[in-house]
Amino acid sequence: MSDKLIVMERRVYIKTFGCQMNEHDSERMLALLEECGYHETVKWEEADLILVNTCTVREKPEQKAYSIVGRFQQIKKNNPDAIIGIAGCVAQQRGEELLARIPALDFVLGPGKIYKLPEILHEMHKGMRGVCTVGFENGCPTNLPIPHTQQLRAYVTIMQGCDNFCSYCIVPSVRGRERSRPSGEILAEIHALVQRGTKEVTLLGQNVNSYANNTPRELTFPQLLAKIDEIPGLERIRFTTSHPKDLTEEIIEAFGQLKHLCEHFHLPFQAGSNAVLERMNRGHTREEYLAKTKKLREAAPQISITADVMVGFPGEGEEDFLQTLKLMRQVEFDGLFSFKYSPRKGTRAAQWRDDCTSEVKQRRLEILQELQRGITLKKNKELEGTAKEVLVEGRSRNSPHTMKGRTRCNRIVNFPGGSELVGELVTVKITEGLQNSLRGGRCG
Ligand code: SAM
Ligand code: SF4
Repeated sequence: MSDKLIVMERRVYIKTFGCQMNEHDSERMLALLEECGYHETVKWEEADLILVNTCTVREKPEQKAYSIVGRFQQIKKNNPDAIIGIAGCVAQQRGEELLARIPALDFVLGPGKIYKLPEILHEMHKGMRGVCTVGFENGCPTNLPIPHTQQLRAYVTIMQGCDNFCSYCIVPSVRGRERSRPSGEILAEIHALVQRGTKEVTLLGQNVNSYANNTPRELTFPQLLAKIDEIPGLERIRFTTSHPKDLTEEIIEAFGQLKHLCEHFHLPFQAGSNAVLERMNRGHTREEYLAKTKKLREAAPQISITADVMVGFPGEGEEDFLQTLKLMRQVEFDGLFSFKYSPRKGTRAAQWRDDCTSEVKQRRLEILQELQRGITLKKNKELEGTAKEVLVEGRSRNSPHTMKGRTRCNRIVNFPGGSELVGELVTVKITEGLQNSLRGGRCG
């Protein structure tokens, strides 16, 4: 950030695809751009800079990113000086190839080089075009400015990259090897966020359970959680994503010990069949997964468990798929993100025959989602009559007299109230469990 550029009244439009890590990268890029005098706009047609932050985990978001860049390039008809950049995982994976493929594209920026954004724009304003900055060498500074978008609830990156090499997954190639952020820096950032009014933090990483495993003398993940729990003024702690193989007894015990650690665990299982799990290189079996989720529920009986799962992985037969459904019935997930497998070039599984047809993948996805809808509704109905602590986030979209908030278990609750409650922790008695949310009324 040596070359800060102050320009007046420039507008940036950012379109983000993908996971929370990408959302947070977009927030960080916006903070850097604001230091250079840019303001965010929600209308791409009036932007001076359009930034598309891409995801390549599955085929669909990657294709969507290409088609949206195609639409955005029309901006150059009215504003030939407008700048268009592609950031994120597609940028890292395709690099220079993108500049050749999309003539209107001005720069490509990998996730490991976000901090270079001000320098790149400095060059762009001098007339340079066709810049490609990707890679992970030298390490991205981890103490970039805190985005102003981080308010009541904020994301805090604790690690980047992944060392797991699940056979279907492109993340290790496009996000690099696992790098844990120093705990001192993480704690300082959370202190600063709390000073600005943050009540809830979500710690981010591809595999937070292995935080600092390769950094001797650093705090372990449960020790880090315990330190964060002591920060005065912070009400809630969440984290994502976790890997079953790195979920230790200490992490499970933290749920019974730490006051502010919310009872929600996102623990992707990907498949219910051991044969498929082995080909996925997941490093855990279905039995181990079941044992760990059982322990989580023993340590925190209210805990909500959510997961990611895939259908149609190479070689997944009907019997394997039935094992996935069986595991879902055994665990009774509170929520599930489900995907059709798509081969990603450069991964090990992409060398295998994608032998489940798109019809088979679609049918399995529908069966699985139907099963999950029933389980989710049943679990939401079970909460009727209980009282829940809710952090009030704002007005509900549907009614000006209804407020929206979240329980510690990460369920959305709508209840009658006014905007003076925003940011407060209130107790709500649940009167109705719906498919995607709960309804209730304030107690007392
Ligand atoms: N690190 C996390 C983990 O291990 O679960 C999340 C990784 S990825 C960004 C999010 C989810 O995308 C994965 O959990 C998986 O279910 C899904 N996914 C990854 N690669 C995929 C592929 N090739 N096809 C379909 N879904 C995929
Ligand atoms: Fe991908 Fe597996 Fe790493 Fe998750 S743990 S990011 S699925 S390689």
